[in-house]
Amino acid sequence: MEYLSDRIKAMATSATMAMARKSRELKSGGQDIISLSLGEPDFNTPAYIREAAKEAIDSNYSKYPPVSGYVDLRDAICRKFKEENGIIYTRNQVVVSGGGKHAIINVILSIVNPGDEVIILAPYWVSYYDQVLIAGGRPVILETSIENDFKISPAQLESAITEKTRLVIFNSPSNPTGMVYSRSEQEAIARVIHRHEGVFLMSDEVYEHILFEGEHVSMASFDFIYDRVITVNAVSKTYAMTGWRIGYIGAPEWIAGACDKLQGQFTSGVSSIAQRAALAALDGKDDSRELMRDAFLRRRNLICRLLAEIKGIRVRIPQGAFYVLPDISHYLGRSDGTQLVRTADGLALWLLDRAGVATVGGDAFGAPGYIRISYANSDDLLVEAVRRIKEALEILK
Ligand code: GLU
Repeated sequence: MEYLSDRIKAMATSATMAMARKSRELKSGGQDIISLSLGEPDFNTPAYIREAAKEAIDSNYSKYPPVSGYVDLRDAICRKFKEENGIIYTRNQVVVSGGGKHAIINVILSIVNPGDEVIILAPYWVSYYDQVLIAGGRPVILETSIENDFKISPAQLESAITEKTRLVIFNSPSNPTGMVYSRSEQEAIARVIHRHEGVFLMSDEVYEHILFEGEHVSMASFDFIYDRVITVNAVSKTYAMTGWRIGYIGAPEWIAGACDKLQGQFTSGVSSIAQRAALAALDGKDDSRELMRDAFLRRRNLICRLLAEIKGIRVRIPQGAFYVLPDISHYLGRSDGTQLVRTADGLALWLLDRAGVATVGGDAFGAPGYIRISYANSDDLLVEAVRRIKEALEILK
């Protein structure tokens, strides 16, 4: 242990991954655990995509692919950006990586120097924070709360920008809140970025198609900041392909080039078979996207209604993604007679133990006082999970 690098010592373990591991272990030990921790569609990858992967194996897609991804896949991504997001990228502006997470760290390592500040909007997805630390950057957190729908104001952003700011990370629909910024709110944020030369915006849009209200707006579609935006996306959520690990960016060519250079030393091009499957996903189409979205909407309504019936819990109805972030602060500082529950992380662990329901404490999302529930699970299990949570919370006095 003493010989571990300072870099590793300074990093936290991913809270989502840690909770997923814990609940898998308990399940394999025979315990009855309902997993609402890891955020991933509970659906299978659509058949037309699976067929394309089988075909790729039989067609011997077994050699190193280009570092940035197959040309036809990058061209398909350019078409997707144009048709769905109104953004024009050429293939040299696109890099395919091992999931959105890999795409994001590539960008951070490419443009953040040690000591640079990176503005992160809380509550934020857990890995943004530690990925900035890995690069030696300094995360600057903008606080929000349930009262303002977990959204920042342009003035808040303006006052956080200093001459050390290099990057702002934006994510709508949001993981973990499910909140969606409106076009005018996004434009106001874009205007702030525009005023500060040398400040870039990474827009994580992986939940764009899991949207229940409003419209998805890509930050790079505001022409005046196009050359300062990195758009991150993935096939994981839209096509139920989390395990295939395919994410991608569209970015100014010099940033894409830097990511290609970095990836050329780290991973080379990512899995050839998964890339062929991603190409089929983007180019083909069936109604699975819409069916999954409809199921998530139904489950959102169900879980929000049930959670609101629990005494002391406050919920904001999310407009997208498949997470809800209830305020559970009412239950902190309470005890079950033997154990005191002090923090949201503590409550998540206590619920795992007492109720057999895996959630993730809000602390690692910059949201102490909240827990994150992923409702990408069957209606029956959601009903049972909330019943168990309610029953367990009644013990805390
Ligand atoms: N985005 C998912 C989540 O937040 C995946 C887990 C992860 O990579 O952290 O649960």
